[in-house]
This record gives sequence, C-alpha cells and structure tokens, in this order.
Amino acid sequence: MKLKRLEMVGFKSFCERTVVQFQEGITTIVGPNGCGKSNIVDAIKWVLGEQRARSLRGTKMQDIVFAGNDKRKPMAVAQVTLTLSMPDAENPGKEIRVEVARRLFRSGQADYLIDGRSSRLKDIIELFADTGIGLQAYSILEQGQVDQLIRAHPDERRLLLEEAAGIMKYKLKRKASEVRLEDSKENLARIQ
Ligand code: ATP
Repeated sequence: MKLKRLEMVGFKSFCERTVVQFQEGITTIVGPNGCGKSNIVDAIKWVLGEQRARSLRGTKMQDIVFAGNDKRKPMAVAQVTLTLSMPDAENPGKEIRVEVARRLFRSGQADYLIDGRSSRLKDIIELFADTGIGLQAYSILEQGQVDQLIRAHPDERRLLLEEAAGIMKYKLKRKASEVRLEDSKENLARIQ
C-alpha cells in the first residue's frame, strides 16, 4: 500500500485547503521548526483512526480543529482525506485506489468516509488490517521511538521492520500452516 495524496482542511495549522502529493521517490518532508511537519504526520494518524488526542499532541479531540490565529478566525470543522494505492489482487500488475476521509465538527459530530461513502471506524481498521500501514503496525514511529529502534536488540529490530514491511501476516500464515501440517502428520501416523 502506498500513500498517494493527503488533503487537509481545517486540520491544526492547515486552515487553507492543503494538498500533499506523494509522488514516486518522495522520502522526506523538510521545513523550519513549527511549519507543520508533525501536523502532516498527525493528519495521517488521525485519518487512519487515531482515537487518542494525546497521540495527536492535544488534550481533547476537538484540539485538532484549526483554532484560529492573528489573521484567521477559528474553523468549525476539520477534514483530512488520504488517497492510497494498493495492488489489485484480481488484475496483477494493476493498482486500485482507495480514499479514506475523516471529519470532525467542533460540536463533536464526527464521521468517516471510504470512497465517499459514510463508514464506521471499524471499516477503516478492517481496510488497513494486515497492510502494514495501520496505527499498530509501526509504520508510524514517533521521534522517541526512533531512539528505541536504534538501541533495540537486533531480534527486536528485525521484528519491528518486518511488521512495518507487512510481511508479518505471511510469517503468521506460514506458522499456522506448519502447525496444521504437523497435526495432519500425527493424524496420519495414528490412522496407520
Ligand atoms: P517541529 O519542527 O517543532 O516539530 P513542526 O514543523 O513539526 O515543528 P508542527 O508541530 O507540526 O510543526 O506545527 C506546529 C504549528 O501548528 C504551531 O504553529 C501551532 O500553533 C500550530 N497548530 C497546532 N494545532 C493547531 C490548531 N488546532 N489550530 C491552529 N494552529 C495549530
């Protein structure tokens, strides 16, 4: 799964509609302190379903709605839309695009959309399960976690990289198959 496009409007410092295109080869976002680099990461975490305001550097969820500055009034709603591409299982070599969006009104009303259709948080989590991109998949590491990664034991580091690369699910499947194979061998031996 690849990030293609991120659109933010009313999210944190992005009062104007802001679009980030992740073209092939982009590896880094650079900018002066306070220009909003971390807010971009927060936007990705949020649209993927983050529920903890603290993880988005706020105290309550409504803190993510643009709070106003000396030139602009606060906004009533924040929306983030993330477009991803993934390999099309039915047409090898082709990709399909999926667009997920999350919206939050200052009043507290909130919703999720998948390809423009109203969805539940559960649908978003299911969509990303096993893709290596979810919130639990270590594909997003906070600054402190990079330090942990460097200090980690090689085995732990390998586990983390494998999870982020999304190959964990294959390893788990292989393990399950090995167990089933072992069971079958035992059954066969018993029958014989
Ligand atoms: P650093 O280099 O320090 O990590 P950064 O480039 O990652 O900075 P961010 O922390 O993403 O920057 O952005 C901080 C800016 O976002 C600050 O100017 C802050 O005032 C602004 N900001 C955060 N939340 C809101 C909000 N709800 N409304 C308006 N502005 C906000």
